[in-house]
Amino acid sequence: MSTDTDLYARLESIFGARVQRDVPLAPYTSARVGGPADVLITVHSARELAMVASRLWSWEVPFWVLGGGSNILVADEGVRGVVVLNRSRRLAFNTEGEQPTVWAESGVNLGSLARRAAAMGLAGLEWAAGIPGTVGGAVVGNAGAHGQEIADVLQMAEILHRTEGKGMRTPEALGYAYRTSALKEEPGQAVVLSATLRLQHDTPEAVQERLAALNEQRKATQPPGATVGSMFKNPPGDYAGRLIDAAGLKGTTVGDAEISTVHANFFVNKGEATAQEIWALMYLARTTVAQKFGVWLEPEIQLVGAWPEAAVAALYEPQELPPPMPVPRPKEEA
Ligand SMILES: Cc1cc2nc3c(=O)[nH]c(=O)nc-3n(C[C@H](O)[C@H](O)[C@H](O)COP(=O)(O)OP(=O)(O)OC[C@H]3O[C@@H](n4cnc5c(N)ncnc54)[C@H](O)[C@@H]3O)c2cc1C
Repeated sequence: MSTDTDLYARLESIFGARVQRDVPLAPYTSARVGGPADVLITVHSARELAMVASRLWSWEVPFWVLGGGSNILVADEGVRGVVVLNRSRRLAFNTEGEQPTVWAESGVNLGSLARRAAAMGLAGLEWAAGIPGTVGGAVVGNAGAHGQEIADVLQMAEILHRTEGKGMRTPEALGYAYRTSALKEEPGQAVVLSATLRLQHDTPEAVQERLAALNEQRKATQPPGATVGSMFKNPPGDYAGRLIDAAGLKGTTVGDAEISTVHANFFVNKGEATAQEIWALMYLARTTVAQKFGVWLEPEIQLVGAWPEAAVAALYEPQELPPPMPVPRPKEEA
């Protein structure tokens, strides 16, 4: 990828002050870790996002979209190339008729959207109030909590696809499964411009009460502060946090990174943690759980930027391990 002066000058001539060079990404991530992007382009509307993506694809310049930075781990060495920071934040409620909806640009924060809906007496997003990312990040990763997920409430998403152009996609067309979608499986090929979510009429008091109860539950079970959340997907029939806890790893630290003492599937930056330290904890958690329980945890978060290939493979591919030790059983009496 070329991120030389020539590319920077071309980008700046078209997108002006939206283009910056050598921008540290840590402040744009929930864990507050990660090195600089060679080039950061900040977009303030879905239209700008579409314009930037189309131009970069036509120049064959790879890029990735940064939403709330709450489901990624940016390498300490940063990102060679272009990052598009999504600050598109327009939204519009449609409260006419029996089926209210909200249309939101993909840079809208999902939690604040849920709280605004609640204040208007619109139900359906209470589960999402504590999710720190954007609507775009949620549509890509099928974010969910408390038994519900974005696929349940999404009416339509406006997608710009590299080869198929702009179009509206139904949840069925987005191939949703647990914490994934066709978009997540095909990184760099499409951007989410906006989404329309289904809501229901209710009273503000009732919706806000449910939302507050779920938030209380979250506060009691998840750590505050700078964290990467939902590190690993829950394996079928179990919970990643329970397995990491049962492996005895709660509270384990590497440098300033810690496996949360509150919830073992959250990793905390206690101050000056590096991405490498968080990676080391992920590796430790994954291999220890595999050795003890024979389960290879699959990361929910994505490693982005200048990670060595081997570092990515070590977290995303099953490795060779001896089978788990069989649990000794008492001898049956003859
Ligand atoms: C404290 C905490 C609690 C959390 N709780 C939950 C939870 O309850 N449930 C849950 O599901 N997750 C949870 N998460 C994880 C995270 O918040 C969600 O996955 C969220 O949906 C990610 O959105 P984001 O905008 O931060 O995405 P980012 O981390 O910015 O990006 C994630 C991926 O989506 C892509 N992407 C983002 N926006 C777009 C776009 N517009 N177009 C194309 N691609 C895009 C990025 O390129 C990247 O590949 C939690 C995280 C934290 C830190």
